[in-house]
This record gives sequence, structure tokens and C-alpha cells, in this order.
Amino acid sequence: MAADIKKEIELEIAHVLFLDIVGYSKLSVNEQHVRVDELNQIVRASEQFQKAEAANRILKIPTGDGMALVFYKSPEEPAQCAFEISRALKDNQRLQIRMGIHSGPISGVVDVNERTNVLYQTEIREMFGGKKLEEIELENTQNGKRRHLRTPAVFSMIGARPFTDWLPPEIERDDKGFIKTGTSVAAAPAWQASKHQPGRLETSLPGIFAAGDVRSGSVKRCAAAVGEGGMAVADVQIRLASSS
Ligand SMILES: Cc1cc2nc3c(=O)[nH]c(=O)nc-3n(C[C@H](O)[C@H](O)[C@H](O)COP(=O)(O)OP(=O)(O)OC[C@H]3O[C@@H](n4cnc5c(N)ncnc54)[C@H](O)[C@@H]3O)c2cc1C
Repeated sequence: MAADIKKEIELEIAHVLFLDIVGYSKLSVNEQHVRVDELNQIVRASEQFQKAEAANRILKIPTGDGMALVFYKSPEEPAQCAFEISRALKDNQRLQIRMGIHSGPISGVVDVNERTNVLYQTEIREMFGGKKLEEIELENTQNGKRRHLRTPAVFSMIGARPFTDWLPPEIERDDKGFIKTGTSVAAAPAWQASKHQPGRLETSLPGIFAAGDVRSGSVKRCAAAVGEGGMAVADVQIRLASSS
């Protein structure tokens, strides 16, 4: 294993600066890109960021609407970086940022891509602590082996897997289980036998529609899901009118 990677996986204390853009989900996709670009530029221009990057002692984790910056030397690093970012944003009315700092022990791992800090096929089985979290028990779901990891915090990311296994095979899904609609189901047997083309939100079974997060290719946001629900109602009416 390369020496720099080995160093990266040693247990050490990290100081993390979390940043996210306020009201990001209410922006249009174009505006989201503009704001993220702007934030990236401001962060990259900060002296503290540049120092840590030059020393190869910073981990940058994009989170879509912001980022987590992991510093290793001292808690002053993220604090100073946050201060520089605030100063750069002082006169900027468009870009509002939330920032938080957290210090704690980290234990890295290296995956097959030689990337660190991701434990695949691992699930949390138990959490321990007194007044606050101190330790978790992890299980490797491949070999059943369990181990304990001391940690003061757990961040839970939920809601990314669709529950569509119960659907009949006639309703086609993509490789992640999201329901296909529109042109991507035009070759389905039921559509081949039909004189109609599938509507934008119509599945591989004519007359069955999918809207919102469960639909393959949808924008996973509330406003988009509500909009697709409205579109589906209109499409149902079109389908009913065409079949009468
Ligand atoms: C952690 C997290 C943070 C998010 N943050 C934001 C944000 O800041 N801004 C934003 O715009 N969006 C955000 N989203 C995305 C947003 O929540 C979704 O885009 C939105 O809820 C999708 O709406 P939906 O109606 O398509 O699906 P859902 O809200 O998931 O509703 C589907 C419903 O169907 C039910 N259901 C499932 N299977 C069955 C079944 N077989 N029978 C009956 N009922 C069933 C489910 O229980 C659920 O109530 C976030 C999502 C997550 C997970």
C-alpha cells in the first residue's frame, strides 16, 4: 500500500467544516449550478483552504448543496477557513451559507478504488453511549463480522432506495429499481402492441403512471414530485379521452 494512503488511514483527529447553501432546493437547476460554482470559487480562494491543499492535508467531500472540508492539523483551520469565507460573502446578497464545525476521531479505510473513508457492505447494528453517542457496532453484511468503532456522531442518509420489488415484471424498472417511463418504455411489449405512444410519465404498462421520486430519471426534490403529480393527472385524462 502506498505510504501516503497508509498515512491517510491512521486513526487521527479531524476537524470538519460543513457548508451548505441556504434555500438551495428552492432554486432552479441553473441557479443551483451558478451558486455551487460561486461557493466553490470562494472556498478555493480562501487562504486556509489553499494552505491545507498545498500540504495535501485536506479532504474535500462535495454534498450537492455544499461540502464538508476535513482538516487535520488543528480546530483553528476550519474556523479560520469559515471566517475567510464569511468575509468573502459579506457583501454578497445572493449566496447565503450555513456553516458548522465539528472535531472528532476518524479511522479511515481504503476501498478497491484506493479511495478512503467508505465502508461498503457495512451496517450499524448497535449504538452505545451515556448521555451522548460514544460507540457504534458495525457488521460486515458479507461475512457477518462485527466490530466496534468509537465515534461521537452518526449522520444518517435515508430515502435513496425505491421500494418497487412488489410491482409485476410488466412494469419495467431501471437497474436501481426506479420505474421507467416515457420514451424509455416505448419498446415494451404492451406498447409495441398498442396504437399509442407512452406518455411522459406512463410506464411500460399502458394506463399506469409513475410520478415523483420513484420514477427513473426524476429530480429528487419536493417541488418536482408535486409537479409530476399534477402532470400525471393531466396525462391520465389524455389517456382516458384517447381510449373512449
Ligand atoms: C433525507 C432527505 C432529505 C431531503 N431534503 C430535501 C430538501 O431539502 N428539499 C427538497 O425539495 N427535497 C428533499 N428531499 C427529497 C424529497 O423528500 C422527495 O423528493 C419527495 O418527498 C418525493 O415525493 P414523492 O411523493 O415522490 O415520494 P415520497 O415523499 O417518498 O412519498 C411516497 C409515499 O409512498 C408510500 N409508499 C411507498 N410504497 C408504498 C406502497 N406499496 N403502498 C402504499 N404506500 C407506499 C411511502 O411510505 C411514502 O409515504 C429529501 C429527501 C430525503 C430522503
